[in-house]
Amino acid sequence: MPAFDVAAIRKDFPILGRSVRGRPLTYLDNAATSQKPLVVIKALERYYSEQNANVHRGVHLLSEEATTAYEAARASVAKFLGLKDTRGCVFVRGATEGINLVAECWGRSNLKAGDEILLTHLEHHANIVPWQVIAERTGAKVVVTPVTPRGEVDLVAFKGLLNARTKLVAFAHVSNALGTVNPAVEMTRLAKAAGALVLIDGCQAAAHFKVDVTALGCDFYAFSGHKTFGPTGIGVLWGRPELLDAMPPYQFGGDMIRKVDFAGTTFREAPERFEAGTPDISGAIALGVALEYIMPIQAAAHAYEQALLAAATERLKAIKGLTIVGEAPEKVAVISFNMEGGHPHDIGTLLDADGIAIRTGHHCCMPLMKHYGLSGTARASFAFYNTLEEVDCLAVSLEKARKMMA
Ligand code: PLP
Repeated sequence: MPAFDVAAIRKDFPILGRSVRGRPLTYLDNAATSQKPLVVIKALERYYSEQNANVHRGVHLLSEEATTAYEAARASVAKFLGLKDTRGCVFVRGATEGINLVAECWGRSNLKAGDEILLTHLEHHANIVPWQVIAERTGAKVVVTPVTPRGEVDLVAFKGLLNARTKLVAFAHVSNALGTVNPAVEMTRLAKAAGALVLIDGCQAAAHFKVDVTALGCDFYAFSGHKTFGPTGIGVLWGRPELLDAMPPYQFGGDMIRKVDFAGTTFREAPERFEAGTPDISGAIALGVALEYIMPIQAAAHAYEQALLAAATERLKAIKGLTIVGEAPEKVAVISFNMEGGHPHDIGTLLDADGIAIRTGHHCCMPLMKHYGLSGTARASFAFYNTLEEVDCLAVSLEKARKMMA
């Protein structure tokens, strides 16, 4: 294993000390939501016990402090995405809201009949349905890039599907169902060469490796705070400021306006343009703390997780009747699998009895499951606080489940 002090890291996450059904918790559902380090929990507590006030409004000290902390969190987001400028960093509820915002605000005024939105077959519903809906409303068409049997985007097909009608390409940086890391730089380069804008759904990437939106070359990047060790209810949409400023906002109210008059209202530029009303102040501040927590350990954590992935893959492959779904050469630490004779939900329930939390079902990727002819899979998804001992617990419990299901 690469050098990584996982014992020290685990002490930062209070929940990892609890037991579940009389066993120590083995939390392997990180792709659904990650656990929170104490610094994040404390940041929420500190905000409400020491700083609570509305932002961008008051002249009093508390409001000034809350505003400073909120904007400092935005600076952490910019740093996290490899940016010097916070201008394009919009706080939203999560990746879902970020993608819907682009579909609604960019799509509604830029798409027309005959235009194409190119997706991939491995998208999460959050990166399918907003495009379907905006396509129905504008007359544009959703086009889907197929995936290979190993769970990779078929790049040859992708190139072939790009054309002058492609106005936007939207794809996951990392597949939540399979763990596949998509060749985001190459896909973005090809899409941009075809004249399309690119939105990357970074929900599953941000928790696992360094994201640099400038190096990616994309136009929009969305991720959720709760999957990156921050709270629920907060996330980020980054967009090129000139694109965001040209997009009509879709929610209206306090803070996003420049001037209101019954004769007409003008709006501020991004990011405030898209942050109508009182935002999730404590959530944003705690997300900033989460990002500051992971940035210094990101590279080492990634190497460590890759070693966990290799060990877990080897152990699971040795289990009779277990099939891994999605074996792309580049993956984050996510393993989707099925077992002969057992429904994924049965596997999940049997593992739960051993204190092991995994996800089962379609993972909000029904089209991908259909592509593989499956109703769902069991999915173990790891974070840097997981251990080789937990990989062992998973393998032992699965072996036990196999015998019971047989
Ligand atoms: N995109 C991907 C790839 C995801 O895995 C998820 C959540 O699982 C989402 C989008 C939606 O994220 P949220 O529910 O936090 O908005």
